[in-house]
Amino acid sequence: MFHHECAMKTFDLRKRKMQYEPNPQGERKMGSKTDFCYICCMAKNQYLERAIRLALQNVEAGGGPFGALVVKEGVVIAEGVNDVTRQNDPTAHAEVQAIRNACQKLGTFDLSDCELYSSCEPCPMCFSALYWARISRVYFSATHQDAAQAGFNDSFIYSEIRKKMEQRSIPFIRLPIPESEAPFRQWIEKNDKTPY
Ligand SMILES: [Zn+2]
Repeated sequence: MFHHECAMKTFDLRKRKMQYEPNPQGERKMGSKTDFCYICCMAKNQYLERAIRLALQNVEAGGGPFGALVVKEGVVIAEGVNDVTRQNDPTAHAEVQAIRNACQKLGTFDLSDCELYSSCEPCPMCFSALYWARISRVYFSATHQDAAQAGFNDSFIYSEIRKKMEQRSIPFIRLPIPESEAPFRQWIEKNDKTPY
């Protein structure tokens, strides 16, 4: 596959009649002709089309309407679909599944050299998972408003995060028992740990 990376400016367009104006701030404006080179745009759209195709196939197969891909240097490393109801796993969102599959495949918990493409804007859980996985960039197509119209309303969770503990619909109750800090002390003192 033709390899190039806009942000790194390592690609060669000399033989191609394409317009490209690098933007030092990166690719901020989705679809803007000045921020994307044509090849990038095509590839990114194709990854998103693949994510949407996965979502469509998943609905057909009895799963939720979401699909995601992890891409490293232009290569699709892993895919994921929403498997909540089939696996009886409320955390089995497409993005989380794609992250799990990519980490298994690459043998790492750090996906900082990978991008994620999702059929829909990630929910708060996946948003956090993307940060924990250190994904370098996220592309999505449908918005959380689109998802809400289909019955997947995550704005409720965003509003819960902002609330005080005692105002949340799930009570979060701190019980400060004496040894609560012991695991952290043990972690700090351990010399042969795997930091992350
Ligand atoms: Zn999610």
